[in-house]
Amino acid sequence: MLTATPAERSPLPDAEALRDCPLCPRLVALRRECRVEFPDWWNAPVPAFGDRQAWLAIIGLAPGKHGANRTGRPFTGDYAGDLLYATLAKFGLSEGNYAADPGDGLRLRGAIILNAVKCLPPQNKTLPVEEANCRPFLMEAIASLPNLTTFIALGKVAHDSLCRSFGLSPARSKFAHGAVHQISDDLRLVDSYHCSRYNQNTRRLDAGMFESVFAEALAFRPATLD
Ligand code: SF4
Repeated sequence: MLTATPAERSPLPDAEALRDCPLCPRLVALRRECRVEFPDWWNAPVPAFGDRQAWLAIIGLAPGKHGANRTGRPFTGDYAGDLLYATLAKFGLSEGNYAADPGDGLRLRGAIILNAVKCLPPQNKTLPVEEANCRPFLMEAIASLPNLTTFIALGKVAHDSLCRSFGLSPARSKFAHGAVHQISDDLRLVDSYHCSRYNQNTRRLDAGMFESVFAEALAFRPATLD
């Protein structure tokens, strides 16, 4: 059974939830079920993964059951992660080879992955109250990143949660694939459809569309890193 805490696995330990965070009863119940059924899985709030000097933060929705909820690293071990990690590598934002395992030695360079909601939701659908409960952890993580200039939000839930973190109304800053939003004097947000299996299989998102979002974000990479 995995017993490490999210903080022990995180580059931002002060921004992580407790392993048994009690704030979302529905997600706590599912976590308990998973711990009984799959005792060797992570089954806990999934910590950030990446570079604490990141200029780019990628905001996902929530852990996938057979991906991050199983392995304990965002997007690791599921279909969505294959495209995300391949794209990070293509744009020079990672070092090493992604092997769908937290022990693969992969490191992110200038980038970090966070989630709007840290615990596995039923049917991959979060509730507004769960997004609100988990938002303080997202805000704390963002506040811990001194070099941050840019976000990529994967999907509308991540976009909306990020907007609310900055006191912006999602109704006024609408999600749209490829859209760029100025969310504070120093921070920009680029939207992308989520790289989920569903979105890829239905051709809502393909690799070229996803790479275009990263190319857009790279335009905001600080010149000091060139
Ligand atoms: S989703 Fe976030 S706030 Fe809710 S139980 Fe998990 S860690 Fe706690």
